Amino acid sequence: MTKPLSIYIHYPFCKSKCPYCDFNSHVKDGVDHANFLRCYERELEFFAAKVGKRKVHTIFFGGGTPSLMPIFLVEGILKKISDLWQVDENCEISLEANPTSSEAAKFKALQGVGINRLSIGIQALNDADLKFLGREHSSKEAMEVIEIAAKIFDNFSFDLIYARPKQTLADWSQELQRAISFGTKHLSLYQLTIEKGTKFFSQFARKEFEMPDENLSADFYDLTNQITSDAGFELYEISNYAKKNFECAHNLVYWQGGDYLGIGAGAHSRIYLDEEENRSAITMISEPISWLKKVEEAGAGIQRLEKISKEELVEELILMGLRLPQGISDQIFQTHFGKNLEQIFDFKKLQVLADQGLIEIAAGEIKIPDRSRLLTNAIISKVCEAVCGWEFI
Ligand code: SF4
Repeated sequence: MTKPLSIYIHYPFCKSKCPYCDFNSHVKDGVDHANFLRCYERELEFFAAKVGKRKVHTIFFGGGTPSLMPIFLVEGILKKISDLWQVDENCEISLEANPTSSEAAKFKALQGVGINRLSIGIQALNDADLKFLGREHSSKEAMEVIEIAAKIFDNFSFDLIYARPKQTLADWSQELQRAISFGTKHLSLYQLTIEKGTKFFSQFARKEFEMPDENLSADFYDLTNQITSDAGFELYEISNYAKKNFECAHNLVYWQGGDYLGIGAGAHSRIYLDEEENRSAITMISEPISWLKKVEEAGAGIQRLEKISKEELVEELILMGLRLPQGISDQIFQTHFGKNLEQIFDFKKLQVLADQGLIEIAAGEIKIPDRSRLLTNAIISKVCEAVCGWEFI
C-alpha cells in the first residue's frame, strides 16, 4: 500500500524573538529569498528521489513566521511539490501567520497560490499581556486580522497562550469566550511554559514574575476544556480544539504515526526512505545559513539520520496514539506492519486493563476513557507490556 505523505516546510525567520519562544526562529535582515527557494527546491528533489511515488495529503508551512515569506517563495515551493508528487485534490495546505496588518495584506495572495488553511498566532486579546509576551501586534490589530482571515478562509485557526502571570480564571474565561465569538472552528490553546534558553527563563529565575502553581494550572485547563466543550469544540489533541471536521489533518499525522517529511532548517521527519523496512528519523541543521550551505553542497541539510527499530516504532505509536481521545486503531498498525491490533497485542492482558476501567476496547480500537486520562503515562506503559513479543512484529 502506498503510504500517504505529509510535508512540513520550516521558515526560520521572525521580525523579533518572543521571550518565551524556544522554536527554531532567527531574526535576520536581508534574507536572500531567491536562494532559499532554490534550496527548498533542491531538498524536496533530494527526498523525492528517496521516498518515491506518494500522494501528498497535507502540507504545513510553520516557523518562524511563514507569513513573512514572499508570495513567490510559497508559490515556488508548492509548485515544486506538485511537480514531484501527486497532490491530493483535498490536500490541506496550512500556513502560520502573525496578526499584523502587513501580513494580513498578503492573505488573499496566499489563498491565490494554494493556501487553504490559516493558523494565526494571536496569543492574547489584551494589550498588557501582548506586551508582556513580546508580541508586536495590539489586540485591536489582532481582531481586525481575524476578521480579514474569516472573510478569506473557510478554515482558519488561532493560537492563544493562557495561564499567564497574574491572569485570573475570570480574565481567561472572558478572553476565551471573546475569541470563540469570532467564529473560528479550530483553536490551539497552550499554557505558558518557561523553557530553558529563553528570555523568560532568566527573568523567571530572577523572580521578575511568578507563574501559576500546579493547582491553578489544572483549574485553567479544566476551565478551558469546559468553555470550549460548551461552545461545541472537541479536544482532539492535548492543546487543540476543533468543531467537527475541522481538526488539523497535518497535526493528526504526527500523533497517528503518519509519514511526514520536514524540509528547511531544523525541520524533523519520520519517514520510510528507499522502500527500507525501517522508518527513519531525520533532523535538519537548525542554523539557517549553515542549512543553506549544506543543501548547496550535498542536496539536503541533514544533521542526523537514524533508523527507528520496529520495537521503538511500536512504542512510539502507542505513546503518541493513546494521548489522543480516539486512541490507536488497526489502521495505524496496518500502515506500518500490515497487522491488526489483535496480532500486535496480547488481548488477555489488555482485557485486565479494560476490566479496571483503564482502557476501552472496541472493534479495531483501543483508547483511554476520559475518566482515566490523569493516569495516561502509567496506562501507556502497561499497554506497552501487553505487546505480544517483538519477534512477532
Ligand atoms: S513569532 Fe513565533 S516563532 Fe517567532 S519568535 Fe515569536 S513565538 Fe517564536
